[in-house]
Amino acid sequence: MNTTADAIIIGGGIVGAACAYYLSERGLAVHLIERDFPASGTSRACDGLILQWDKLPGAELSLGLASQKLWHQLAEELETEIGFEQAGTIFLAEQADQMEVGEQKAAALSGSGQRAEVLTPKELRELEPELAPDLAGGILFPDDLQVDPRRATLAMLAAARRRGAQIHRGEPVLDLQHAPGDKAIITGVITPGGSIAAPHIICAAGVWSAEIARMAGLDIPIRPRKGHILVCDIHPKKIHHPLLEGGYATTVQSAAEDVQVALAAEMTTAGSLLLGSSREFAGFDRRVLLAVIRAIAQRAARFLPGLVYSSIIRSYAGLRPWSPDHLPVIGPAEHAPGFYLASGHEGAGIGLAPITGKLIADWVTSATLPPYASAVLPSRFEDAMEDKTNVLI
Ligand SMILES: Cc1cc2nc3c(=O)[nH]c(=O)nc-3n(C[C@H](O)[C@H](O)[C@H](O)COP(=O)(O)OP(=O)(O)OC[C@H]3O[C@@H](n4cnc5c(N)ncnc54)[C@H](O)[C@@H]3O)c2cc1C
Repeated sequence: MNTTADAIIIGGGIVGAACAYYLSERGLAVHLIERDFPASGTSRACDGLILQWDKLPGAELSLGLASQKLWHQLAEELETEIGFEQAGTIFLAEQADQMEVGEQKAAALSGSGQRAEVLTPKELRELEPELAPDLAGGILFPDDLQVDPRRATLAMLAAARRRGAQIHRGEPVLDLQHAPGDKAIITGVITPGGSIAAPHIICAAGVWSAEIARMAGLDIPIRPRKGHILVCDIHPKKIHHPLLEGGYATTVQSAAEDVQVALAAEMTTAGSLLLGSSREFAGFDRRVLLAVIRAIAQRAARFLPGLVYSSIIRSYAGLRPWSPDHLPVIGPAEHAPGFYLASGHEGAGIGLAPITGKLIADWVTSATLPPYASAVLPSRFEDAMEDKTNVLI
């Protein structure tokens, strides 16, 4: 197979699927190359929460709000069920000082039109009777959303395929092709089946993006940040909103190397309760560790005491693609013309997948870009790489 395309996407997780969706919408001939099967990476080992209150003001929140709108559109446009729900989320304050933090987040978001309702302990228990009686209160964010990440990935890929996109499964990208006269220019990919040439090569390989970027001569500092999830059978008990403890946002924004645990509880449309969340840097190790499972279970039981009577039916770990400044890496590479990154979303890749796909389509088709697009460009890391090279010289 030696063929050509308008754009090649490396990686069939939710971000690659969103890129395929928006690029094919613009009429481009797209090939997506996945080494295993769609959603075989982090996009099937995660929660499906689309939050705004955990975002920092500026580019991160702008991306979040733009993607929230796109998720509403996708829920209408996609032809298959994606587990889309607007259940809102509840920020749980264990103590009074966390209530203040929650209220600050509510005030910060109100300027962006996001609703927030401050809940007294009594109101909190009326909404969620399973919660511990001694919590200081909570904040309901009714505009937060939920999807089933795996189903959403498959639905976007199916839509792209209907528009002519070719989805390759079980086919790793082994290397990139470079222009004969200028090695910096990327012109295609090499797989075991042959080569595909295209003027736009998009790396959406999640935590494996640094490895692909190296093939393009770039040193992009995306690292795997591991997270465990427990799946609980809580029938007939039920929580009505996804619940996150106030300290969750702190663990998201921290860059600590050791294990961080904060409650995130979400009911799936299939009726299971997903419990998280942990964060740690453990390389590419995806093994489930009993000590982390125990820590998550203990934290969950602190907020939902009735869980001590339910069973954990399964557990798994996924790897979040972490970037050092807590912003994703989206757009064309300055030092490798033809090569683009769509990665580094850490714990927000489900929420931010649609805006990532749309920004990539905007770059590729030279559409007008929103102001926040420049804050997430790969050049912020490429420049550091160039500085290092200068020091060595
Ligand atoms: C425990 C946990 C909970 C989370 N909860 C949430 C949440 O509630 N909300 C949220 O927004 N985000 C959440 N996330 C984060 C989210 O899951 C990720 O940001 C997102 O799934 C990343 O998607 P991706 O497409 O970039 O990567 P992936 O899904 O990992 O896809 C990358 C793909 O690239 C493929 N690939 C790699 N190398 C090659 C190659 N050489 N050739 C071809 N293909 C290749 C892989 O096989 C893989 O399928 C969570 C993550 C974890 C771990």
